[in-house]
Amino acid sequence: MTNALYMDDSYLKTWNAKVVSVKDDKYIILDKTAFYPKGGGQPGDEGFINKDGTDFRVVYVGKFSGEISHEVDKSGLKEGDEVSCELDWERRYTYMRYHTASHLISNILYRRANAKITGNQIGMDKTRMDFSMIDYSPEKLRAYVDEANRIIDQDLPITIGYMSREGALQKPELARLAMGLPKDIKEFRIVRIGDIDEQIDGGTHISHLKEIGKIEVIKTVNKGKNNRRMYFILK
Ligand SMILES: [Zn+2]
Repeated sequence: MTNALYMDDSYLKTWNAKVVSVKDDKYIILDKTAFYPKGGGQPGDEGFINKDGTDFRVVYVGKFSGEISHEVDKSGLKEGDEVSCELDWERRYTYMRYHTASHLISNILYRRANAKITGNQIGMDKTRMDFSMIDYSPEKLRAYVDEANRIIDQDLPITIGYMSREGALQKPELARLAMGLPKDIKEFRIVRIGDIDEQIDGGTHISHLKEIGKIEVIKTVNKGKNNRRMYFILK
């Protein structure tokens, strides 16, 4: 199983690794990787795998049968190769900022309006969030986002911890998620924003809220109580 370095250090940009397997000349599995595989509404990372001065561009990263697979743009990598890897950091960091902003917004929507997130798509230039909310108006939504911006000004830290299945089940908000997770998972990764939010989560995040910048809602769509939609950008 690949060691997923981004789980403990979202800021790791370069590292050395060994090629564990190569399928169809272009699908690479490494012994360790900081390339985040597409998932949770966040696109997979891009970047380079370098072998003896030759760059192999990483064009897609996904998780297949539990393994993180890197698709590269040309053949040449072989099992056992020692390689150096580099993330397209600007792209990843933008996703980290949007992703963490989504945590904060979903926290406020849940606390203030008992709204649940039903979908999201993180992008480079904007992010879409879908949610259910009974008592909805665009004005209310904007007020919640204003509250999110005030919390950003407090610059709370984002930290990663681990919690046992038993511990997670005692927290109603986490436990609801835990119930739906595979029974063989004994320990959950928990992402916290200060002491206001915690979620079971396998993604990449910034370390301080101020890195988000300012959240600005650019569009809202109302398609029924279980189907509200907003688009936001970061400034
Ligand atoms: Zn997350």
